[in-house]
Amino acid sequence: MNLAVLGTGYVGLVTGAVFADLGNDVVCVDNVAAKVTALRAGSMPIYEPGLQEMVGRNVADGRLRFTTDLAAAVRHAQVIFIAVGTPPKDDGETDLSQVEAVAAEIGRTMDRYKVVVNKSTVPVGTGELVREVIAQHQPRPIEFDVVSNPEFLREGSAIEDTLRPDRIVIGAPTHQVAMTLVELYAPLERPMVITDVPSAEMIKYASNAFLATKISFANAIADICEAAGADVRQVVKGMGLDARIGGAFLQPGLGYGGSCFPKDVDSLIHTAGRLGRDFRLLRTVAEINRERAAHLVETIRTTLDPLHGQTVAILGLAFKPNTDDMREAKSVEVIGLLHAAGARLRAYDPVAMDKARPLLPPAVVFCGSPYEAATGADAVVLVTEWNEFKLLDLARLRGLLRRPTIFDGRNLWEAERMRRLGFEYYSIGRRPVSAVGEDLVPQAPGSGSTRPELGDSLVSRTGSAHRRPATMTKTPLTTQPALTDVHR
Ligand code: NAD
Repeated sequence: MNLAVLGTGYVGLVTGAVFADLGNDVVCVDNVAAKVTALRAGSMPIYEPGLQEMVGRNVADGRLRFTTDLAAAVRHAQVIFIAVGTPPKDDGETDLSQVEAVAAEIGRTMDRYKVVVNKSTVPVGTGELVREVIAQHQPRPIEFDVVSNPEFLREGSAIEDTLRPDRIVIGAPTHQVAMTLVELYAPLERPMVITDVPSAEMIKYASNAFLATKISFANAIADICEAAGADVRQVVKGMGLDARIGGAFLQPGLGYGGSCFPKDVDSLIHTAGRLGRDFRLLRTVAEINRERAAHLVETIRTTLDPLHGQTVAILGLAFKPNTDDMREAKSVEVIGLLHAAGARLRAYDPVAMDKARPLLPPAVVFCGSPYEAATGADAVVLVTEWNEFKLLDLARLRGLLRRPTIFDGRNLWEAERMRRLGFEYYSIGRRPVSAVGEDLVPQAPGSGSTRPELGDSLVSRTGSAHRRPATMTKTPLTTQPALTDVHR
């Protein structure tokens, strides 16, 4: 089938490459000429495992081309995918200007019947808007249909997700139009859900909102675990094995970031409001997420007290592993807060440093390895859980640090292992541990310095109270002062 993909970003480029790989004739369009020139030269604008090889193979075989000429691509195609950006406005509403611009251009240039497919994430009702914009810009009436085919790929595993999606959602005005898309996706042999257009648009937002809710729920549980002396990793494991719940996305940490969840959550809250509904649950999900970076930084501040002048090594800048995408990356928030508190910052990320540089304070020193970042630092903060960090030589890292302190924003490491390796180790929803074989318990607000002294612990690894720092009052285990209370 002849296809056009409008917008050659994360979604458009991967979609174009995969459809070409399935034997279609694909033209990918972008209005950024430099991007198109680079793609023609074989250079990828984004980091995505396996993408370069797939694009190269299909360009070489003549099934995939790149152009800025949208009109020519529209004329070439039977099916036109819209995959342009849908960024948020300040009030959370989705900015549809890129979608409207390409819809107008499709209307102006279409020469015969087309199926126009919205793959961009757009609020319910946008299919109708695209229909109207195309019709308004047609020089003469030509038939067309608008389909919603939301995208569920995850950056970092985009090729795999596009080849083997859990489901393919096709929202079409008629069964016959849906069949065009069914035919296109048939070679993937994946489950397909055929709906009307508004329902397909809602499936995308409802799915992302639900996943974001799971993350914020896990973070709310983590806060309680910190207060109660429970281990959130064990808690979410115990929950996730229940088939009705499932373990995916039940991950406490620094919260969700990236180009989708934050904006899609805000957009759905906005859409609900526009339709006269207050999505209170989702507003709380977003609020919990907004607090995560500040929560971790407060733990760092009270532990290193005073933070001013201390050197902190940041491991991981991308919003998640296996991507260089810095949109809504938690690293920007964490670094901004640490910088404002006067910390000196050294940072390392395996692929995102070029994209991160313009977003971070100029004082941040970018390093060539995690070990270089840690050299002479007073603490390491793990922000993005790259595999590379799981495999670090932690004994070497410890030897390079001025003070062997780690703040793990993603619960990447086992607390017991970190203790054995001689670290003072703080994570999310778990007791902090120290090198001397005992857990650290932070102090209540207003009780003076909360900098834990090694060996000056209240609770042993079995949880029995047996020794207290002088500044702490004796408290039953379940009501001990917690990181959450101290650091909010
Ligand atoms: P992106 O910013 O990486 O890519 C959008 C591309 O569209 C850019 O290259 C831009 O130059 C191009 N563009 C903008 N206006 C254009 C025009 N008039 N003509 C031609 N090209 C134009 O965005 P993305 O991450 O690929 O996201 C695209 C859509 O897919 C968004 O709605 C997003 O919410 C959704 N989505 C993204 C992901 C993801 O993981 N990135 C996953 C699922 C859905």
